[in-house]
Amino acid sequence: MKRLVILGGGESGIGTAILGKQKGYEVFVSDSGEILKKYKKVLLNNDILFEEKNHTESKILNADVVMKSPGIPETVPLVLKLKEKGIQVISEIEFAAKYTAATIVGITGSNGKTTTTLILHHILKEAGLNVGVAGNIGDSFAAQVAHESYDNYVLELSSFQLDGIEDFNSHIAILTNITPDHLDRYEYDFEKYIASKFRITKNQTETDYLIYDADDHAINNWLENNTVKAKLVPFSLEKELEYGAFLKDKIITININKDIFKMPISTLTVKGKHNVKNAMAATMAAQLLKVRKEFIKESLSSFEGVEHRLENVAKIDGVEYINDSKATNINATFYALECMDKQTVWIVGGVDKGNDYNDLLPLVREKVKAIVCLGLDNDKIKNMFSNVVDIIVETAGAEEAVKVAHKLSEKGDAVLLSPACASFDLFENYEDRGRQFKAAVRGL
Ligand code: ADP
Repeated sequence: MKRLVILGGGESGIGTAILGKQKGYEVFVSDSGEILKKYKKVLLNNDILFEEKNHTESKILNADVVMKSPGIPETVPLVLKLKEKGIQVISEIEFAAKYTAATIVGITGSNGKTTTTLILHHILKEAGLNVGVAGNIGDSFAAQVAHESYDNYVLELSSFQLDGIEDFNSHIAILTNITPDHLDRYEYDFEKYIASKFRITKNQTETDYLIYDADDHAINNWLENNTVKAKLVPFSLEKELEYGAFLKDKIITININKDIFKMPISTLTVKGKHNVKNAMAATMAAQLLKVRKEFIKESLSSFEGVEHRLENVAKIDGVEYINDSKATNINATFYALECMDKQTVWIVGGVDKGNDYNDLLPLVREKVKAIVCLGLDNDKIKNMFSNVVDIIVETAGAEEAVKVAHKLSEKGDAVLLSPACASFDLFENYEDRGRQFKAAVRGL
């Protein structure tokens, strides 16, 4: 019996444990922290051995294969030891993909993964395909492979998931964009992060597709210097394309098959230029999967949006409150500010992952009437914007931030929470930050 050791008892770890057990492995789960009660229950119910708050090396270094959760860096001593011993260390998707013959659409990029994944899943479901969705959403891919029998999967893939693949392949890959993020995990080397994202195409063949943002410098640059076997399917907001998707006169045009697809952006439910790109990418993937354009159009007009991504919360005293808590880097906030069509009180701040705020200056100058800092250390934001925005107020909690923003705004304005930073100084995670913001707004 082969021994499968799983490092990390979270969603992907537990899913892999279940699938591994089902496929005849001797499974052991090890987590250096505490495993959530709900997951322990699953392990106990399935007779899967585990340990928590510890990694017992003698029970790990005897593995035939190790599944490492994406949250654990490649550089921790235990992982290095495993690699030294020649033990295969892979990610959940690598492990699970071996046990399904489904067609896979893999979606990666710095921003827009979840949104594009959910738009595409919505389209495919509406079109009647037997399709599962996994990634940061719902049950893990591995658990679904164990329990379901989908013909298609839409998978949101982080660069950490991609770092742990060897043979995994997506028939259709989508690369939404590449901007600096998570550089702490890539030795502060942007090139390494780019290379990691492009692993999505490494096992693709001539019959596969790579859908990508043709306005993205990092992507174009990489494509110029490397060969990709898959057929390239670009999308652009800046130029007309002979093959691919582009925007002209506020109409999305897609010409990847004989039946040219046209749709005015006013009929999309999601707003902002970035979401036009996400919709283009999802539409092309759906077309490649032979979904009829009527279904696609209907689905794009009925998609409900995603929580914490430019989510309209409420209109109070004539002021629009928008929750974009998921904006944890500059690029995401750039798009949020760009699509604001009102004078904006901007709530920003948290844990900065090496932000360069210069890119935001023109938008802030044009649209932001006041800044409400929501973080423990706001010096960088204050220094950057004090010449551009007259009012900058520091706050240390969602409720306080919302109250201050309410005072500073007047009828016709918007209050935008788009922090450009991670949330861990004051909140559990971005969802917690978004929920606290919404509760505070509703409590006004
Ligand atoms: P991810 O899953 O890659 O983190 P999300 O869809 O959750 O992406 O969106 C994260 C943040 O980025 C949100 O603030 C959202 O408004 C913004 N965003 C979404 N799509 C894009 C895109 N294509 N380009 C830039 N920003 C985007």
